[in-house]
Amino acid sequence: MNPTAIPTIGRLAPSPTGAQHVGNARTYVLAWLASRTKNGKVLLRMEDIDSPRVKKGADTEAVHDLRWLGLDWDEEILVQSTRIDAYQDALKELALKELIYPCTCTRNDVLRAASAPHEDGKETIYPRTCAHRFACDASGLLDKNYCWRFRCPAKEPDFIDEFKGPIIGPAKQFANDFVVWRMACDTSLSQSWPAYQLAVVVDDAFQKVNQVVRGDDLVSSTPKQILLYQNLNLTPPAFIHLPLVVGEDGKRLAKRHGDTRLSALRHQGVKPESLLGLIAYSCGWTNKPMPVTLRDLMPLFDLKKIPNKPFVLTKDLLKGIGYEP
Ligand code: GLU
Ligand code: ZN
Repeated sequence: MNPTAIPTIGRLAPSPTGAQHVGNARTYVLAWLASRTKNGKVLLRMEDIDSPRVKKGADTEAVHDLRWLGLDWDEEILVQSTRIDAYQDALKELALKELIYPCTCTRNDVLRAASAPHEDGKETIYPRTCAHRFACDASGLLDKNYCWRFRCPAKEPDFIDEFKGPIIGPAKQFANDFVVWRMACDTSLSQSWPAYQLAVVVDDAFQKVNQVVRGDDLVSSTPKQILLYQNLNLTPPAFIHLPLVVGEDGKRLAKRHGDTRLSALRHQGVKPESLLGLIAYSCGWTNKPMPVTLRDLMPLFDLKKIPNKPFVLTKDLLKGIGYEP
């Protein structure tokens, strides 16, 4: 290794809002390999700020799932719910620069902001109803639920994805002013929480992460995150967005495709090597699924061989690794 080269720092960032499934496992294995094959570090961060959706015990279970796969990490686990002060500092900085404004529009938008926007990929364009406000106007809103929105420039930044190539953002008349924080005054929510977009940037920068590997359903979040990096004077990492695992109907892996939770595979006695073999096959590194260890995968790892389309997880493939979904 070139001694002057900057070491790669990658991360695994599970959300304990539910169980980890085969699709998550593929992302974690690829993120781990993308760093370890460069002698890099891997960090683990528990993204537990989505408090209404966080499930009790899902964090411990996620750690168990990662260990079962054979993945390891350096340093202690960073837990987002312990980092609210750091996110607040970033929010203050954005407010001082008048880059954010308080928005009292729909409650749904505000509530959804804490989680990474995996679902539909279609974001609703916010009509900038509250964009006339200044940051200091928030002091008059203490009895209201509101959110802080980032004041986007006319066009979101383009970036180069190390897997997908150049991502040229659509030139919108108004780029979408996204939510960075939600403030709740009612007792059912009792707290205010940073949005995924802000927390992920503050933490990746704090942990000196310089390589982010995640599912390509988050591609549209990246220009927003780059805007935050730029305006908080932070350096963005390299981004690698990889195709998702989908069910036989081509839709994002979900309950209707049968139980693909890692815990369910374990309970039926599936060995991690069998799942790793299926992951290697899904990446085009082997021509059929056969049991392998993470060590075996190190020399096979090759981003360029991964098909640039979703991987269809069929029932037959699951049966092939000894799992009856
Ligand atoms: N915790 C996020 C998720 O599971 C990770 C998003 C990211 O990798 O930036 O969706
Ligand atoms: Zn508004």
